[in-house]
Amino acid sequence: MLSIHSPMPVRIPEEAPDTHATLRFNVDDMSYEQLMELGESIGSVSTGLTETLISQHVTRRKFEPPTVALPDKLEKELCCICQDEYDEGADIARLACGHEYHFNCIQQWLVRKNDCPICKRKAIKL
Ligand SMILES: [Zn+2]
Ligand SMILES: [Zn+2]
Repeated sequence: MLSIHSPMPVRIPEEAPDTHATLRFNVDDMSYEQLMELGESIGSVSTGLTETLISQHVTRRKFEPPTVALPDKLEKELCCICQDEYDEGADIARLACGHEYHFNCIQQWLVRKNDCPICKRKAIKL
């Protein structure tokens, strides 16, 4: 006796190829950087900056702890984003407003929003 319940093979008709396949983005396969670029290229609502722009526009320096401890300046310099003190040789970025952060911290911040976390002024004038 033949089974009448054998499933029909699902067949994609060849006369109707998916012409849009190459226009689709497989978001799951994309890296974070690719997604950011995609967002920019299609004009998404992101108000942040690209990492390249950030590294081109902030002033960078290596952190050097003061050689002489000033008694009236006992406050350690902190990165307000990660709340960590700067280690000697840390990669520091200074924004146009004069506030400083770890380069990596401010970079992650600025890809989302182009303003200073402390004073809210524009971090980078484009
Ligand atoms: Zn930091
Ligand atoms: Zn600032």
